[in-house]
Amino acid sequence: MGCSTLWDFPALLQLLDSLEVKRSHSEPLLRWAAAKVVQGDADGWRELGLQEQSLSDLGLPKKAAEVLTRTQPFSSKLSSSVTSADGSTTKMVLELWDGHKVESVIMRHEDRTTICVSSQVGCQMGCTFCATGTLPIVGDLDAGEIVEQLLLAQRVERQNGRAPVRNAVFMGMGEPLNNYDAVVAAVRTMTDLGQLGQLALPQSRVTISTVGVVPRMRQLVHDLPGLSLALSLHAPTQELREQIVPHAKNVPMAELLAAMDLHLEQKTARAMIEYVLLADVNDSDSTAADLGRLMAPRARKVMVNLIPYNPGASSLPGGFKAPAFERVERFQQILGGFSILTRVRREMGQDIAGACGQPPGKPLSRVWCPGLGWGGVGWGGVGWGGVGWGGVGWGGVGWGGVGWGGVGWGGWVGVGISWGVVGVVELHFCSV
Ligand code: SF4
Repeated sequence: MGCSTLWDFPALLQLLDSLEVKRSHSEPLLRWAAAKVVQGDADGWRELGLQEQSLSDLGLPKKAAEVLTRTQPFSSKLSSSVTSADGSTTKMVLELWDGHKVESVIMRHEDRTTICVSSQVGCQMGCTFCATGTLPIVGDLDAGEIVEQLLLAQRVERQNGRAPVRNAVFMGMGEPLNNYDAVVAAVRTMTDLGQLGQLALPQSRVTISTVGVVPRMRQLVHDLPGLSLALSLHAPTQELREQIVPHAKNVPMAELLAAMDLHLEQKTARAMIEYVLLADVNDSDSTAADLGRLMAPRARKVMVNLIPYNPGASSLPGGFKAPAFERVERFQQILGGFSILTRVRREMGQDIAGACGQPPGKPLSRVWCPGLGWGGVGWGGVGWGGVGWGGVGWGGVGWGGVGWGGVGWGGWVGVGISWGVVGVVELHFCSV
């Protein structure tokens, strides 16, 4: 989405190159800046007391001071934060430099604090139990914007006298593996003692969750070995999975499991199976037994995380229902019969809409708004929609003069109607 901070490491190296400053200065610079931004409560270098002299004191060449003039301590700002009544969860709403908003959630367990980070604005995967799935994809976060979520969380915890964040899960808005390069660069920074000093997280405590972008799952094994993987499975059969996760239509179950197995071949690797329990959809005894049989050969290396559905999160008109407590227990018991370790996720932050899949804040809610478009060329009644006002959209192909639209850049969705030779009308709904 654009970078003007230090935290996008590949971009920082390019900046140092352009200033003819040695790359070896990058890590001391980052460690020093990370400690300052977490300790401080300002959003500008000068308010944080960081000036050219500070860099000289650090042993950096004078020229490196230019880095400060060309970057911001944060490109995002904490727009708001709200903490659940029991204090276990804080939802942070971050405003990106271009005005879009994403959420990060700090979850405080007895023995650890975890941040759930977002990797995209919106999401294209459309999982039916997830509120984010109702939103169009607006864009990818850059590596710096992802790292900033961790630093802001560290700052919030420090200011409140709490223990630092020690874990991160990529389970916020977006499919991380659809924004692969930025996510990998962000994880490298978040887990590098050289770059973040004491604020860095152990790599084994970073979990990337995916609904199954198979080529990227395979690549991840080489790019970030030792990272924890969470697979959002939600069903033990291809047919049922396609009903719950539309993206599954492109991903045969055998290929998905083979990609997970590749990850499990690593010496100490484990995988978490994410399973949202939807009443009367995927919570029956026979479904539990199917899941048990599927996971039994991998029982030593997987843990099934059962997540009772959060009411109100569905993108489907009728929605889903949460299963009764007894049903969850029964499902867990059946998996136990296959020697599969399970955990029922304790939902945190439901009162602040910070629980898994719950609706994100207003800024991305969709509203109808008028749009102008110019339609496309048609042959024999087949037309393409065109370019929408305020954003590029692609219209659809129409038969008998009627076309359907597609998703456009900038959060626009166009519904195109084309007829004859030239189509002229498009309606839009957009993100605001
Ligand atoms: S569950 Fe994750 S991948 Fe699926 S729609 Fe929601 S944010 Fe996207």
